[in-house]
Amino acid sequence: MASHIVGYPRMGPKRELKFALESFWDGKSSAEDLEKVAADLRASIWKQMSEAGIKYIPSSTFSYYDQVLDTTAMLGAVPDRYSWTGGEIGHSTYFSMARGNATVPAMEMTKWFDTNYHFIVPELSPATKFSYASHKAVSEYKEAKALGVDTVPVLVGPVSYLLLSKAAKGVEKSLSLLSLLDSILPIYKEVVAELKAAGASWIQFDEPTLVKDLAAHELAATLTSLSGVTAYGFDLVRGTKTLELIKSAGIPSGKYLFAGVVDGRYIWADDLAASLSTLQSLEAVVGKGKLVVSTSCSLMHTAVDLVNETKLDSEIKSWLAFAAQKVVEVNALGKVLAGLKDEAYFAANAAAQASRRSSPRVNNEEVQKAEVHFLQAAALKGSDHRRATPVSARLDAQQKKLNLPILPTTTIGSFPQTMDLRRVRREYKVKKISEEEYGSAIKEEISKVVKIQEELDIDVLVHGEPERNDMVEYFGEQLSGFAFTANGWVQSYGSRCVKPPIIYGDVSRPNPMTVFWSKMAQDMTPRPMKGMLTGPVTILNWSFVRNDQPRFETCYQIALAIKKEVEDLEAGGIQVIQIDEAALREGLPLRKSEHAFYLDWAVHSFRITNCGVQDTTQIHTHMCYSNFNDIIHSIINMDADVITIENSRSDEKLLSVFREGVTYGAGIGPGVYDIHSLRIPSTEEIADRVNKMLAVLDTNILWVNRDCGLKTRKYTEVKPALTNMVAAAKLIRTQL
Ligand code: GLN
Ligand code: ZN
Repeated sequence: MASHIVGYPRMGPKRELKFALESFWDGKSSAEDLEKVAADLRASIWKQMSEAGIKYIPSSTFSYYDQVLDTTAMLGAVPDRYSWTGGEIGHSTYFSMARGNATVPAMEMTKWFDTNYHFIVPELSPATKFSYASHKAVSEYKEAKALGVDTVPVLVGPVSYLLLSKAAKGVEKSLSLLSLLDSILPIYKEVVAELKAAGASWIQFDEPTLVKDLAAHELAATLTSLSGVTAYGFDLVRGTKTLELIKSAGIPSGKYLFAGVVDGRYIWADDLAASLSTLQSLEAVVGKGKLVVSTSCSLMHTAVDLVNETKLDSEIKSWLAFAAQKVVEVNALGKVLAGLKDEAYFAANAAAQASRRSSPRVNNEEVQKAEVHFLQAAALKGSDHRRATPVSARLDAQQKKLNLPILPTTTIGSFPQTMDLRRVRREYKVKKISEEEYGSAIKEEISKVVKIQEELDIDVLVHGEPERNDMVEYFGEQLSGFAFTANGWVQSYGSRCVKPPIIYGDVSRPNPMTVFWSKMAQDMTPRPMKGMLTGPVTILNWSFVRNDQPRFETCYQIALAIKKEVEDLEAGGIQVIQIDEAALREGLPLRKSEHAFYLDWAVHSFRITNCGVQDTTQIHTHMCYSNFNDIIHSIINMDADVITIENSRSDEKLLSVFREGVTYGAGIGPGVYDIHSLRIPSTEEIADRVNKMLAVLDTNILWVNRDCGLKTRKYTEVKPALTNMVAAAKLIRTQL
């Protein structure tokens, strides 16, 4: 019997670790309290896997914050500013690196490959003094052993560690990160020796950077560092070509193959029959006894335990498997290889797969027909759903109607959400307050937000999104084809978790979703009120997406649903409609060779949403990420009338793309100040930034706005900041 799990969620089935961490950070509980919660979670995970029958059970996949930061601690690579003086790294240094402290900011955080997990980026320089400063891997191994579980300690591999790092300030240009390999390998050797001495017979080195486009020397470094291994583990779900490569090229003789057939990223139950046939074909390649069933990646990217989903209906539930259920799937597959097939379990799985394939809840013929018809009709006409009139002419037509001043001011959508407001939504959801009470509370909030904006003299208003808890959930709850979990949390960073909606079926929009509130808000003011929607690509990228059809197919369906909403808003008299694509860039595939295809359907999906509106209807979009330069042509290709973007980190970088001669004719609002900072920028400071932008961009396309929503901000900060923003715009108008 051979089964293996790459890694497991740390947060706990009810986010126990989150609450323990936050209480510790708030000074409400002790380090011992925190350590106890952590130890209990680890123990229960090991016990669960060992009882399920998993042979290779991971350890050291637990983390108080992040596994890359754990590796930084292991290597003693603490940046100088944290004033660490040596010895074993404790909570205080560790959490200072993760979150900053009263005097020093945190280390940078960035996305882990194409997941929604964020890791703490190591900062290295030739002066970094490496030392073995965290014995976590060894102590976790011993801890499991004391509980009677022999585990496989998991380490972030040395090459991936370096390639995920950044060069410290001052050596950005001169440092080749891989040149530090010789400095960190001795510490890895110490760790390995200590693990061996403690009794470990297997150690897992994760080298995920191998999935990227590596330069020849990077690839060579990885292969050299892997040359002595006994087994190779591959993701056979995401890496669509890996299976064929193994089948055709084989693996070095005598080595084990850990075949990652059970998807670690998603929440779908495995198609066990399909996996079994893959495994059988691999067994023929690597030989009996050398094949181990595994997950495609660490299960930390999926939800924890389906058992806690008491509200999900049983049909949908039968299609799902969270981490705890995936452990059982892996084990069941492993047992078959050993000649022990649990027939009842396999039969139940086959029945669930069949029900998923044939359920009318998944396959909505009407939706499919409408989609095919829409796309085919366009293809026949050679249309790619681009508005017929070019953007400059549209802007003129819109301006005639909207009559905006130059450098129009606006905000991104949400206004601060008070405790009271959250309570109202919660009480409405559990039917503690009536539809009328809820409606009047939201109406009151909208009118407050409208009044504030009028007083501030903002030009294009928003209703403030008080009825929305989350920009994807709000739409998912009203679209068909979506399901929501109660506890399907996935770690995003540190103690932060997200609960992605599950898209299980063909998506359609039974009823208008935002028209009621937007019209109500527009009726309160003579100024233009933006309708506010989340775009299809963002809804897709922030959900668990069905795996039984290509992603673009699901995206087009969402796009058609949003298109209906756009048209209903327009018919309702809304003249400016913002379709947020906060996460468009985030969906970019890891391999460059796949970028063009993704950008093509993603941008096309966006265009579908608004290809049917009149020239006089102004379409805005908003994007959250600061690195646009490499996808600027796709952004232009979205053909929005106005784009507002986050550029908090660097105006320079953003503007350089225009300086380099990219022609941009649509409206653009690079956020004039950083939403994440608590500081209130002065009028002069904002005016200064706007002037810098005017040096590069045409006066008549520039907008003045903040760089993201204000949902988590406080009015005490928002009001003075917006006051200064409007004052800055007015100041510059007088100077032009
Ligand atoms: N309209 C959304 C808001 O203002 C956009 C949020 C986002 O970009 N993440 O909250
Ligand atoms: Zn944003």
